[in-house]
Amino acid sequence: MKDMIRIVQCWIEHPVRKLDQTFTYLYEGKIEPGCRVEISFGTRTLTGFAESVEESEESREEIEARLGMKLKDIDRVIDEESLITDELHDLALWLRNETLSTAIACFQTMLPGKLKPAGGRSQTVKEKIVKLSEKEVSLTPKQLEAYLYVKDHPGITYTQLRKEYPNQARALVEKEAVILEEKEKEAVPMRAEIPQEELVLRPEQQKAMDEIRNSDDAVFLLEGITGSGKTEIYLQLAKEALNQGKQVLILVPEIALTPQMISRVKQRFSDGLAIYHSGLSDQEKYEQYRLVKTGQASIVVGTRSAVFLPFASLGLIVLDEEHDSSYKQDSQPCYHCRNVAIYRGRYHHCKVILGSATPSLDSYARALKKVYHLVSLKERINRTLPEVTVVPVRESIRKGGSYILTDVLKEKIRERLDRNEQIILLLNRRGYSAQLRCHSCQEVLKCPHCDLAMSWHHDIKMLKCHTCGTMLHTPSSCPVCGSREGFMSYGFGTQRLQEETERAFPGARILRMDADTTSRRNAHAKILSAFADHQADILLGTQMIAKGLDYPDVTLVGIVNGDEGLSRTDFRSCEVTFDLLMQASGRSGRGDKHGEVVMQVYDPGHYAVRCAAKQDYETFFYQEMKFRHAGEYPPYTYLAALTVSSRDQRQTDRLALALKAGLSGPFKVIGVVSLLKINDRCRSRILLKGKDPQAIKDAIRNFIDTTDLDLKGLKVDIDPLYLD
Ligand code: ADP
Ligand code: ZN
Ligand code: ZN
Repeated sequence: MKDMIRIVQCWIEHPVRKLDQTFTYLYEGKIEPGCRVEISFGTRTLTGFAESVEESEESREEIEARLGMKLKDIDRVIDEESLITDELHDLALWLRNETLSTAIACFQTMLPGKLKPAGGRSQTVKEKIVKLSEKEVSLTPKQLEAYLYVKDHPGITYTQLRKEYPNQARALVEKEAVILEEKEKEAVPMRAEIPQEELVLRPEQQKAMDEIRNSDDAVFLLEGITGSGKTEIYLQLAKEALNQGKQVLILVPEIALTPQMISRVKQRFSDGLAIYHSGLSDQEKYEQYRLVKTGQASIVVGTRSAVFLPFASLGLIVLDEEHDSSYKQDSQPCYHCRNVAIYRGRYHHCKVILGSATPSLDSYARALKKVYHLVSLKERINRTLPEVTVVPVRESIRKGGSYILTDVLKEKIRERLDRNEQIILLLNRRGYSAQLRCHSCQEVLKCPHCDLAMSWHHDIKMLKCHTCGTMLHTPSSCPVCGSREGFMSYGFGTQRLQEETERAFPGARILRMDADTTSRRNAHAKILSAFADHQADILLGTQMIAKGLDYPDVTLVGIVNGDEGLSRTDFRSCEVTFDLLMQASGRSGRGDKHGEVVMQVYDPGHYAVRCAAKQDYETFFYQEMKFRHAGEYPPYTYLAALTVSSRDQRQTDRLALALKAGLSGPFKVIGVVSLLKINDRCRSRILLKGKDPQAIKDAIRNFIDTTDLDLKGLKVDIDPLYLD
């Protein structure tokens, strides 16, 4: 018997936003709703997503006659079986409404990459490692630089070298200055952990735990300074859920930066643990995805996208460091992981714990309004807070001292080195000196594609754009005024800090951790475990090192240029600065030894600095709420940012103006504001601000559904985190 014809409704990636609807296709073969399909639409082949499948007794001709249109066949069914559950299906459509993006974008965000699961055997991947040869060869200066780079980076891969030295890598191989060795690519090693028994909770922890356990509320904000024992509470609640045969999801901002969370979960629960993050290959993600769907994985530690895993029966969701901005996706659909977690908690009738030492203003305000159940931990487990010294940098400069390492900070570093204790130095800017300025016209050298200042990287003697990755040599003349007088450096980054620190403390062993030293796989883990093993005295780096680390030998944290973030124009800049200072301070004195923190700042009187110095979240909260109230910013109002971008400024402006004209309702329309160009794309933004979030969404939805404009370059961001 011939296979029955199936009528399949498919979501597709339609370029016209108002046609975000399903289209009808036919298929003679096995297909389930929830599978991805390949279909032709017009002249193009697109990936679609099967929404519904109806088996039909009719012939093709009868179906077409009944529906009154010609129908095409699905070209190929990509997935053997449905990848999603009913819950995830509804979640995608909910997400589409919440974020005003297309259905297909929501489905694609939820699923693990574009992959071909058939067969499912992962291939071993080979990579080439670059080794120095013994041969003596003559090299051009540039090739020599690349050669020395290899020397300084043992174990570097060829791919990596080509990225750093696109024009020299091959020449080095051809001249046999280096040789390539093939090696099987390493999977992330799952280090076996020594099992750890549950700790006996302190009275304050026990009280918090009981409060969560005995309450019928769904969402809890667990506020507690770093080191107050939040993680232990998560683990004990997780164990209860697992004992009831339920699954547990623990969300963290970044896997690489939270190795201790993972090892603690591993120590406690060795069976059924899955780790899910963006660093996995599509194949690895798919395997983890299947483990969750089949119930073989009972506890998952993962980043933002793990919130979409196909859990059958969740018993607990934890969102650790709930204030962290990496929980918000920056591209369509611009969703916030917290909202999705709460949606899923509601579906599974399980508790959602939002944890932080510095809750986002929005969450804390909600907790005070009893939308979330507030649970606080006030004490550190070791009962002592680090002692904080605020050092005004201006004074140091006036006295002829350094603006990078002040005398106060140097003295305290010296003490630690003498006592063989460890030090963390934080500077939230990588590179050597942040910028180069023309001697003649004072203009900063900018990226030709992004309108943003480029950073000088001393080790490779090149300028790098931290937004698009463009690298340039210092131009011989100023692109603005043409002067050949050269450039002066301005500001400084982690590389410069490293150099200053090496100069001040010649014997000290220093590790640097920033985007430049961690581009290779596992680089984070290597640096952190070397520091944990006390192979270095000083760990210096960007905000990467401010999060989640727990090293008992660290007794001093120095925050260099601690309030640099306040000079940003964004309404959240005080909150971000406060968080950074608080989080960084939390790294000091976590063990038995007394901890100290030095904050080098330009504005010691600012409330973000003063409150962080006292580790006083509440005072900061009320001060900042006053500022938000006065400026009519969230959480007193709701925002939606509509950004349009294209290669052409006029086209961008036209669409932005049309949007502005087409949107009206009980809200303010602010802009059009021209944003910085990024990656050669001109960007303009309008901002909707009002008290009624639904009215804002309705107006945007209505516009999208009725306009004839091509909205390809439109990005809708409901509740945007940053505006600059
Ligand atoms: P947080 O997550 O709030 O930063 P942690 O749960 O990481 O706090 O706890 C900080 C430190 O105190 C960790 O080293 C942890 O092992 C330890 N700790 C937590 N709870 C207890 C307890 N009840 N008894 C003893 N040590 C504890
Ligand atoms: Zn100039
Ligand atoms: Zn750029």
